[in-house]
Amino acid sequence: MEGELIRACSLQEALALKDQNAAFFAGGTGIGYKDSGICAKKLIVIPDLDGIHEISQENGAVRIGALVTFTQALAHPVVPGYLKEAIRFCGSLQKRNRATIAGNVASWRCDSYLIPTLIASGAVLCIAGKGGESQCGIDSFLADRSIYTDSLITAIIVKQDAGATGAKEDVRVLSKRFANTVESHAYLTISMGRVEETYRIGMAIKGSGIFSPDIMNWGIAWKTANVTDDMFGSEEYKRYLTKVTLESMYEELCREGGSES
Ligand SMILES: Cc1cc2nc3c(=O)[nH]c(=O)nc-3n(C[C@H](O)[C@H](O)[C@H](O)COP(=O)(O)OP(=O)(O)OC[C@H]3O[C@@H](n4cnc5c(N)ncnc54)[C@H](O)[C@@H]3O)c2cc1C
Repeated sequence: MEGELIRACSLQEALALKDQNAAFFAGGTGIGYKDSGICAKKLIVIPDLDGIHEISQENGAVRIGALVTFTQALAHPVVPGYLKEAIRFCGSLQKRNRATIAGNVASWRCDSYLIPTLIASGAVLCIAGKGGESQCGIDSFLADRSIYTDSLITAIIVKQDAGATGAKEDVRVLSKRFANTVESHAYLTISMGRVEETYRIGMAIKGSGIFSPDIMNWGIAWKTANVTDDMFGSEEYKRYLTKVTLESMYEELCREGGSES
């Protein structure tokens, strides 16, 4: 890892320092990784903002502060089971101890552990930028990430599992990660969620990107997506795997929800 490490004392200072040559330093596991594509001359240590290390319940949802690590989220009783399942996709205990949930979202990797699940569950990001603080759905973030390049994700708000005490909505999310071993990069990470009667899909495809196709016409969106033929599998295999996985997830969610598939 190269670069000057700067300790920002306030949110304003952290945001003022952030430009295209700088990165926020959260767990450092993405920044320190030689293949991450992150090359920053300045590393800005995220300041100790209110709630940034905390997990709390708010209006039937769960707020996860930006510096909460995978290990802390796994150990916390209010973090929904569907998110814990995705966190376990990271097989390395050392990485879980350092990597943050927000750092994983910000890294926006095509083999992301968490983004498909967060898309499928309709997670919301709390964002602080030079223009102020706001909240946006993770799919809006996906639609135009360029707006948020120099912003800081201060927290992530996730819905509680169906049946959790005080849960506001009926939420079920299924996620699967396909890789040769738990420590290998995933060639496909895929999630489908049902929030009340709305179904959502989140997919991360190695070498291709992150997708959030609409359930009603995912086949059309999927046909135009660029899916690579590489050492992880042929394009044909990846398309087949995606199709059968989504079909089986949809059937399972419909069965549980009591509707016809
Ligand atoms: C060997 C190895 C294998 C890995 N494999 C995978 C993998 O298969 N899938 C996967 O998803 N990840 C993988 N990673 C990357 C990494 O471990 C995770 O993505 C991790 O969650 C990143 O979180 P972090 O807190 O360490 O982020 P950092 O490394 O601190 O930061 C990563 C990026 O996110 C930005 N950032 C961090 N926090 C914020 C914030 N709050 N707001 C805005 N921007 C922010 C930084 O500017 C930087 O660009 C791997 C890493 C290693 C070392």
